[in-house]
Amino acid sequence: MRLVFLGPPGAGKGTIAAKAKDVYGIPHISTGDLFRENIKNETGLGVRVKSILAAGDLVPDEVTIAMVDQRLKEDDAQGGFILDGFPRTIAQADALASMTDLDRVVNFVLDKEAIVRRLSGRRVCKSTGRTYHILYNPPKVEGIDDETGEPLIQRDDDKEEAIRNRLEVYEASTAPLIAYYRDRGLLVDIDASLSPDEVLKAMVDALK
Ligand code: ADP
Ligand code: ADP
Repeated sequence: MRLVFLGPPGAGKGTIAAKAKDVYGIPHISTGDLFRENIKNETGLGVRVKSILAAGDLVPDEVTIAMVDQRLKEDDAQGGFILDGFPRTIAQADALASMTDLDRVVNFVLDKEAIVRRLSGRRVCKSTGRTYHILYNPPKVEGIDDETGEPLIQRDDDKEEAIRNRLEVYEASTAPLIAYYRDRGLLVDIDASLSPDEVLKAMVDALK
């Protein structure tokens, strides 16, 4: 299964991808996670993109496309993949079409108030990328990762000003991909307002 997860920031793409990867036995490839990994390891790429992510702007297409092209060539992606957070622009979508065919594009649909509630309550474990929500998916012990015991943090781009910017960037650059993939007969709309297990089930049923 070669899937793209499309939708606004905070819609739950990463949360569902972390479950769906086991359902389908395919890797979860998140461009946001790949960038954050590079930032943490202070690679050349990480140094270059750090302030872009903090502001909630998009990393330039050529940088992002090259990173994904390389990732999709790895062995584990040959039997399928979930691309989460890529493509985010029409240019990225065109580039992806030249790299691989896709089976479906899952569009996570959520209203703006719910998006802001999800983003502002999101907490993450920096080393594993595991994601929680202070109300909807709290850790067993407040502020602590369930498995590693490390402290949870709020991402810089989940603070108010960056959230506002990311939603504008989504509307301007990424939302046009809904029509792009609908026109190509690939789009599946999923109501992302339900619980994670309900969203997962609806998606698996829709992809049968
Ligand atoms: P969310 O799902 O909450 O929007 P991500 O983890 O997918 O966040 O992305 C975090 C940030 O990484 C984005 O705001 C952007 O700066 C950068 N990024 C991720 N994917 C892309 C992409 N496909 N193109 C450009 N920038 C990207
Ligand atoms: P995305 O990858 O689309 O940016 P995430 O998967 O990181 O979104 O989810 C954003 C926030 O919302 C996280 O705090 C997550 O725990 C929470 N969340 C995800 N899915 C749901 C859901 N179905 N119901 C309630 N909260 C959710």
